Amino acid sequence: MKELIFATSNAHKIEEIQYQLKDDGFKIISLKDIGITEDIPETGSSFEENAAQKVDYVYQKTGMNCFGEDSGLVVDAIDGAPGIYSARFAGPQRDAQDNMDKVLEMMLGQSNRKARFVSVIALRIETELLLFRGTVEGIILPERQGTGGFGYDPIFKPNGYEKSFAELGMDIKSAISHRAESVQAFIQYLQGL
Ligand code: IMP
Repeated sequence: MKELIFATSNAHKIEEIQYQLKDDGFKIISLKDIGITEDIPETGSSFEENAAQKVDYVYQKTGMNCFGEDSGLVVDAIDGAPGIYSARFAGPQRDAQDNMDKVLEMMLGQSNRKARFVSVIALRIETELLLFRGTVEGIILPERQGTGGFGYDPIFKPNGYEKSFAELGMDIKSAISHRAESVQAFIQYLQGL
């Protein structure tokens, strides 16, 4: 079993990526497992910059190769918000319910409900930095549907499905999500090494 350090403290992301890697012989080591408990600064202006910032922080601190991920929801009718601010859209409390309320409110009366989730994985191997991007297209629902998943899952319906991410369950989400796509590209790269 090959071990990979994942530069995140988001338990949902660890669970999703571990689920996706279950058949590929990789085991995720979290920051908590290597004694890093502080929040990693996130000051970039793109998903790519933030993902790179996460792995560089861990690499500089520990000298260990690692991967990180930055993700978020991009809604066309509100100029791409919440975007890179997805986690803290409604304030520093980083509350998913508050964040969804804010998006739903901004989307009131909007006929263009197109949105996408974006995931960028950064992989740091010694001096090399690689980036892998994934997206999933969909729409913002007028209200919450379902209670599964995390973050904005209850208000996002992927194209081609009649249910929200919160209703579709881990099997479908881990096959079609933004993170599924970025992880797939990342795994293909690792397997080719
Ligand atoms: P990050 O930890 O800075 O990358 O923040 C990502 C944020 O984007 C999360 O806190 C969620 O608000 C949102 N997000 C990312 N991926 C998902 C997803 O798969 N479902 C729902 N929300 C997501």
